[in-house]
Amino acid sequence: MDEKIEEFKKIVAESNNIVFFGGAGVSTESGIPDFRSKDGLYNQEYDYPPEEILSHTFFINNTKEFYRFYKAKMNCLKYEPNITHIKLAELEKEGKLKAVVTQNIDGLHQKAGSKNVYELHGSVLRNYCMKCHKFYDAEYVFESQGIPKCSCGGIIKPDVVLYEEGLDNFTVGGAIRAINEADLLIVAGTSLTVYPASGLINYFRGKNLVLINRDSTPYDCKADLVINESLGKVFGNV
Ligand SMILES: [Zn+2]
Repeated sequence: MDEKIEEFKKIVAESNNIVFFGGAGVSTESGIPDFRSKDGLYNQEYDYPPEEILSHTFFINNTKEFYRFYKAKMNCLKYEPNITHIKLAELEKEGKLKAVVTQNIDGLHQKAGSKNVYELHGSVLRNYCMKCHKFYDAEYVFESQGIPKCSCGGIIKPDVVLYEEGLDNFTVGGAIRAINEADLLIVAGTSLTVYPASGLINYFRGKNLVLINRDSTPYDCKADLVINESLGKVFGNV
């Protein structure tokens, strides 16, 4: 296994246009539960399954219950970036890494110092009034009583892509461009079974595709290097 990490280090050293594509596994090492893991959100006890609560229809029809769940389960403010977030921010500072594409909504890449981050599923750090579009930060939403309301009386909605909602075209376009131009694409902490991860990776035309995941993925055969190891161990040694 250490041989693979050595090889990964070598590939990183010789690459100058790195893009990192990360899933829930990047944040689990900060203590944030994986939505789709057995001990994650999907195993919690609520009157409705989380997929239903986190849907657009549910938000509109049961806003109060949505926020009861959202505030209890999606509050990412108490978490800190881990070694993977930190190393990626360093690589960007050195000019080697050009973009982070993430499926996570916790804002931890930015907290670690990353600047160019494409958040495919939005961010809990951004919230807008549905009536006048005034911006509210995460503290305001998580500390509000009941349904968070704007000074105009409108309901505030998190800038998070809910089930039934489409992805932001600008974000997806930027992610595709970055992946398309990369010489090294690191795909980590995702099983690659969830849309749009699988589709986006097909835009990669560069030299090295590296997959880092606990378990095998459908893309293992396409990768130049596959590391089945914890992200912390890999990035702690790079
Ligand atoms: Zn408003």
